[in-house]
Amino acid sequence: MTAIHSLKTTRLLLALLVAGLTQLSLPTAADAAPESRIDELLQKMTLREKIGQLNLSSAGDITTGQATNSVTETRIIDGEIGGLFNISQPDKIREAQRLAVEESAHGIPLLFGMDVIHGYKTVFPIPLALASTWDMQLIEESSRIAAREASAEGICWTFSPMVDISRDPRWGRVAEGVGEDPFLGSRIAEAMVRGYQGQDLSQPHTLLACVKHFALYGASEAGRDYNTTDMSRLKMYNDYLPPYKAAIDAGAGSVMTSFNDIDGIPASANRWLLTDLLRKQWGFDGFVVTDYTTILEMIAHGLGDLETVSSLALKAGVDMDMVSEGFTQTLENAVASGDVTEQQIDQACRRILEAKFELGLFDAPYQYLDRQRAEKEVFSEKHRQTARQIAAQSMVLLKNQNQLLPLEKTGTIAVIGPLADNKANMPGTWSVAANLDRAVSIVEGLRQAVDDQAKILYAKGANIYADPLLESRVSIFGKDTGRDPRSEEELIAEALRIAESADVIVAVLGESAEMSGESASRSDIDLPATQRKLLQALLETGKPVALTLLAGRPLTLEWEDQRVPAILNAWFPGSEAGHAVADVLFGDVNPSGKLPSTWPRNVGQIPVYYNHKSTGRPQPPDSEHVKFRTNYLDVSNRPLYPFGYGLSYTTFEYSDLRLSSDQLGPGDTLTVSVELANTGQRPGAEVVQLYLRDLAASITRPVKELKGFKKISLKPGQRKTVSFTLSEDDLKFYNSQLEHVTEPGEHHVFVGGNSVDLLSAPFELVD
Ligand code: BGC
Repeated sequence: MTAIHSLKTTRLLLALLVAGLTQLSLPTAADAAPESRIDELLQKMTLREKIGQLNLSSAGDITTGQATNSVTETRIIDGEIGGLFNISQPDKIREAQRLAVEESAHGIPLLFGMDVIHGYKTVFPIPLALASTWDMQLIEESSRIAAREASAEGICWTFSPMVDISRDPRWGRVAEGVGEDPFLGSRIAEAMVRGYQGQDLSQPHTLLACVKHFALYGASEAGRDYNTTDMSRLKMYNDYLPPYKAAIDAGAGSVMTSFNDIDGIPASANRWLLTDLLRKQWGFDGFVVTDYTTILEMIAHGLGDLETVSSLALKAGVDMDMVSEGFTQTLENAVASGDVTEQQIDQACRRILEAKFELGLFDAPYQYLDRQRAEKEVFSEKHRQTARQIAAQSMVLLKNQNQLLPLEKTGTIAVIGPLADNKANMPGTWSVAANLDRAVSIVEGLRQAVDDQAKILYAKGANIYADPLLESRVSIFGKDTGRDPRSEEELIAEALRIAESADVIVAVLGESAEMSGESASRSDIDLPATQRKLLQALLETGKPVALTLLAGRPLTLEWEDQRVPAILNAWFPGSEAGHAVADVLFGDVNPSGKLPSTWPRNVGQIPVYYNHKSTGRPQPPDSEHVKFRTNYLDVSNRPLYPFGYGLSYTTFEYSDLRLSSDQLGPGDTLTVSVELANTGQRPGAEVVQLYLRDLAASITRPVKELKGFKKISLKPGQRKTVSFTLSEDDLKFYNSQLEHVTEPGEHHVFVGGNSVDLLSAPFELVD
């Protein structure tokens, strides 16, 4: 049990004892101490100081060693700030903490937050790529390393995991998330929380996790960032809420609200969401922070003035205001006018103080600053090796005609593309602490891998976009794309010149880091036209072309899929990008990544996702357009690459799907097993996926739902029986009354290597 939980249990026990409801023994002094210290503090603090604890500020102006205090420093001393984020220098963090602990009236330490969402200085692949590993141990390890590094430099709170389910790759923030599936998303949520928080949050190498963005942010209409969200409760409960709940069940200590509205009420003012669902139904006992300025933004949403929206937020269940200064500017008035009570403020303040106790900050306010540990661990060789391994595991082989890949380390290889020799873009979105110069570029990684066995030539070939305006929009945050002033024709001509002397071409194309992430929605998710033009010219040379994609989201690649023999999706691989790409392209690592979301053929198919419902007029299997069936005149219903898809340099065969029984009763388990064989020439790993379908129920049910997966490594010729155990719980869903139930009747189980090519067998759920 974590300290916060024990703190809360202590409160509960005390309450029960006072009420005479239990004979349980009294809590120990150590357990009771933080609670009584909080009571004592709350008695001493002024209303203004309590409100100060609810204020999370983005601090740019902390100084060190100067005589006069900046605005933020003065506010810390005056008790107007409860936490800071966006400071990354340890000496500034130390100074800010010193001011809080030594110069403010009550010496309450500050929280220091940061978006450490896929690594700190050692950057792991973007979260969507981490999801593609389907390897929960590796994901947990990446979060553990992120926590160790960030905590050594003063950070104690990370704004992660981001587990917004999304079925819309136009939304740039899919890069930060877990993909489209609630089951996979839930497992990732748990793994990340375990990795960040460890067993005991008061340890100096852990971070407090913050699950976000609560809730439904991934369903923003039209994939446009910050847009309205509207969905049925059934869809929420069955498809969108499970990963948030999984993070909370795993002990996440904080929750961040989302920008969007839900049922017409912005998340930060939504009492149903933040109190009825989160606290009452799910039992969450940590604190709720808003997203950046979401309180202030409720004025634009049309909910009223700053005082109105700030009061609404507090009453809905928000404990901490990120940047809006709505709480600091209006809550004193709101108490005076009776709109909110001081008890409501005490409640929020108590939750923030509890988190600070839980992190050990009251007793050791500088414990998250450890220069020696930082020197030893941050960006260490060991951490980078793990980042390299995880990056290689996250890549997804989308096509490999005639086994063009892996490449031999011989001859001449032309590496061509706008970011092929770029470091800054390799970490991808939200790599706030990264030293961008220290990432390994793809050209660099390939050169190191071949040493003097092969020759690597390089040309840029194209800019990210031909249009400088578009390119300027995706290099705002310092991830320079190295725009080349030459014309499209000149760049292509140079690329063709080097291609001429090459045996094989590696075309590194796709997105730059800032083409996904926050405020990076795209209505067209093709390769930018100038890059496709380059690719066409390279294909016309007649030389073999292996396309290596950089992408923060699914792209529409039908054109490329029809023409290019090999496509490896590398996502944004992180600090070790070039090494990991080389490991996979040369076959030192056999790719085993599987897509965590569907890749559409064109934008018109969106939303397209594997766990859809059946209509009353389903498309007949293996057909294209059939009149009066659910389909399009001009595109198939099938996606380009389905959920769960990904090839290997070897081949796997599935056979002999068996069930231990054709019935499953309450309290029973059902064993599902399948034979998996490596039928190719290389060792490899396969993610074996299990899906279920409920054939008749009181509500329409998805045609398939992921309910299990296992990553299995096999040598060539090796076979293995892979088993899963199902129980009634795996069949549960939320019905129209939002009860979590099973309904007896026929079900199908499917097992295979992606969500389409599956073996299946029926069974019955009996009463
Ligand atoms: C993002 C959050 C992030 C926060 C703090 C916001 O703009 O939506 O995901 O945690 O900024 O940096």
